[in-house]
Amino acid sequence: MRPRVVIVGGGYAGVKALKVLALSNLCDVLLVDQHPYHYLQTEAYELIANECSMTRVMIDLVALCLSYGDHVSFIKDTIRGIDFDAKCISGELTCHTYDYAILCTGSRTAFNAHVQGLREHSHGVKTLSGALNFKQQFEQRLYKRMESEGGWCSEPFNIVVGGGGLSGVEIAAEMAHYIRVFHRDNTLTCDNIHIFIIIPHETVLEGMENYLITKATRRLMTLGVKIVNHSRITSVEEHTLILNEKEALCFDFMIFTGGIIASTLTADLDVTKNSKSQIIVDKYCRVSFRECVFAAGDIAQLSDTDDVILPSTAQSAEQSGVHAANNIVLLIQNRAMRPSNINMQGMMVALGGNYAAISLFGWIKVSGLAGHIIKTIIMRTYRYILHLQCVKGVEKLPKPKSICSFQKKYFS
Ligand SMILES: Cc1cc2nc3c(=O)[nH]c(=O)nc-3n(C[C@H](O)[C@H](O)[C@H](O)COP(=O)(O)OP(=O)(O)OC[C@H]3O[C@@H](n4cnc5c(N)ncnc54)[C@H](O)[C@@H]3O)c2cc1C
Repeated sequence: MRPRVVIVGGGYAGVKALKVLALSNLCDVLLVDQHPYHYLQTEAYELIANECSMTRVMIDLVALCLSYGDHVSFIKDTIRGIDFDAKCISGELTCHTYDYAILCTGSRTAFNAHVQGLREHSHGVKTLSGALNFKQQFEQRLYKRMESEGGWCSEPFNIVVGGGGLSGVEIAAEMAHYIRVFHRDNTLTCDNIHIFIIIPHETVLEGMENYLITKATRRLMTLGVKIVNHSRITSVEEHTLILNEKEALCFDFMIFTGGIIASTLTADLDVTKNSKSQIIVDKYCRVSFRECVFAAGDIAQLSDTDDVILPSTAQSAEQSGVHAANNIVLLIQNRAMRPSNINMQGMMVALGGNYAAISLFGWIKVSGLAGHIIKTIIMRTYRYILHLQCVKGVEKLPKPKSICSFQKKYFS
């Protein structure tokens, strides 16, 4: 009997692990995800700013699995827990037994429970439904504001982005750019929209290299984004937030991106975790004391070869997914596992419109249109390769049933 590998979560880590295991043809692979698509979070800012449609940020997991052959399957299920002794992953639909498992359920926005009202009055963009909801509500509010004031936006419209990490900066910049274009192309009387980034540190992109910090800060300022530094959001009400327990800021719309916590799956797992609830894995990406279980991507605390903890990014997720899957292949072949060599190859920050700042391999540093072109090529290539693979699977999809004679007449 071929061993059965279950991958939980079809994001950046899960999709990479899937490819390695499927192409090895040494095992049966089951991918389980609560959604039938892989959400391209790294392109979320484009969706929010109306630069692309919903379909551009999704990869169909059903077609992807079908494309690899009969030994690969997909089940849409939400996983609630794992019985490590019985080797069983419990979903809402059924229990998925495994010989080997890779946990790749990612992370969620860390809405600080001590900040009253934060979760209720702000939007997150870590899920596709969240991003869509945000985009639709934002446009509705903007529209209502224009209607109610007879086409003259005399009252300010304030947008607050809580958190100045990669996602906060990208969203603030893209929205600022969108609003500029919106104002220029459509409503010349509505020039009273302000974006604030609230950060507890001195600068945005805290911890990243100075080149990126400087470029991002300058670009945000050019786009008119106000960076409110050394400030903590201490409570939030419907249209007002309090900074540092004393200063009030009125807002119309708020997005919170101030940090992540591992997916809810880890909450009840009896495994070693860090303060973000991420599973601490060993150098093989294996969950400690759980021989056949690996974890990859944001759900895990990943380290580089020098034991430095890596930031949770799509690139570390992809590399760890490949690594965990390669080690399972080696175990199936009764060979020794290899320690991980995950390393950050650089960082790319989209800064609104045709502008990005990138730093790759320690020596390529580019910003502006050139940065945008390089970032776009890298992101499009990732999506295009997956899309081409999916097309192979679409041919194997069962034909949809025709439900009435009219449909039969025109579509059969
Ligand atoms: C706006 C934004 C911009 C970003 N920009 C960048 C960037 O430019 N560069 C970069 O490197 N990183 C970026 N990131 C971070 C990057 O997106 C994450 O690090 C990456 O998505 C992590 O991949 P993952 O596979 O671990 O998790 P995910 O991609 O989040 O995938 C997790 C999967 O698990 C599924 N899942 C979760 N829970 C369950 C469950 N209980 N049962 C079944 N399925 C489940 C989910 O549906 C999902 O498909 C950005 C993030 C955001 C939000």
